[in-house]
Amino acid sequence: MTFKAIRNDKTEAGQTVRFVDMDPSELMDGDVTVHVTHSTVNYKDGLSLSGKSAIPRRFPMIPGIDLAGIVESSSHPSFKAGDEVMLNGFGLSETHMGAYAELARVKGDWLLPLPEGWSRAQVMAVGTAGCTAALCVDALVAAGVTPAQGPAIVTGAAGGVGSVAIALLAKAGWKVLASTGRASEADYLRSLGAAEIVDRATLSAPGKPLGRERWAAGVDCVGSTTLANLLAQTSYSGAVAACGLAGGMDLPASVAPFILRGIKLLGVDSVQAPMAPRRAAWERIARDLDREKLAAMTTTVAFDRVFEIGADILAGKVRGRVVVEIG
Ligand code: NDP
Repeated sequence: MTFKAIRNDKTEAGQTVRFVDMDPSELMDGDVTVHVTHSTVNYKDGLSLSGKSAIPRRFPMIPGIDLAGIVESSSHPSFKAGDEVMLNGFGLSETHMGAYAELARVKGDWLLPLPEGWSRAQVMAVGTAGCTAALCVDALVAAGVTPAQGPAIVTGAAGGVGSVAIALLAKAGWKVLASTGRASEADYLRSLGAAEIVDRATLSAPGKPLGRERWAAGVDCVGSTTLANLLAQTSYSGAVAACGLAGGMDLPASVAPFILRGIKLLGVDSVQAPMAPRRAAWERIARDLDREKLAAMTTTVAFDRVFEIGADILAGKVRGRVVVEIG
């Protein structure tokens, strides 16, 4: 039985990313085969779908970093046929064939069961973006920063990571400042829990090494001068969790905020994060993420629209999260 997939093939002319029918024997090794029912579109997926990125490290490759589905067969002790499972990251779409296919063969060690009472569509509405937002909040908590110290700012606020970060921080008691380039999304951001909207243009131009202390915590999806400005305006003993590069990969900052205000810069990676912090992140999501807010930030699309959404996310046009119905 063949299955429908998006496959990236590389020739001398470059990458070709398109829908194909594949045979299960073309999948890579793994001890669990999953019938994929849902996926999502993260920023990184947009890059993979463009056929112009360095994300795939082998070819052919199936893009898609997040999947949810039903186990078809398993030789892994933790999973059996019929189990509902999810997977975020672990090299899917980079080194291992990913989620944009009706069938996936993966390592059981990468899989998690769904949080109790959550559907496969809901966990994909969270996806890597939401999991990363939770990892950022966990990092801030572990760094000892508390809402009593001052507000928290979220950059790239109307995107996937940003939307979930706002909801989680607000639930954890923070006054949340949402930095966005889309003034039209102010009501949406407030509905998620943002108390104030910050025009992202005020953070994207080069600033002073130290500025007025405006927030105690930050979740940064943007990088570059925006992250440098976040650091410069973080109050004494505060911390910023950096997870994204939507505005650039550079960091034109100074050491002043670190050595004069004792602030911390916390790097957050979701791809190779060990299972313990992943489980903790999903516990926070299951406990603190209001599923009505999640539904309000989520759009659901059919598998054949994934290229269109990939282009939109690269253009900064996607609001919140997107669930893709695969099969
Ligand atoms: P989205 O595209 O959904 O959100 C990114 C947001 O950043 C946009 O919605 C926009 O927000 C803002 N933005 C876009 N372009 C620019 C720009 N040029 N300058 C300033 N702001 C900009 O992506 P995700 O939320 O899925 O991911 C956010 C970032 O986090 C990405 O860079 C992604 O690669 C990274 N990421 C990292 C992970 C990790 O493991 N470290 C995991 C997941 C994501 P607005 O319109 O509100 O201004």
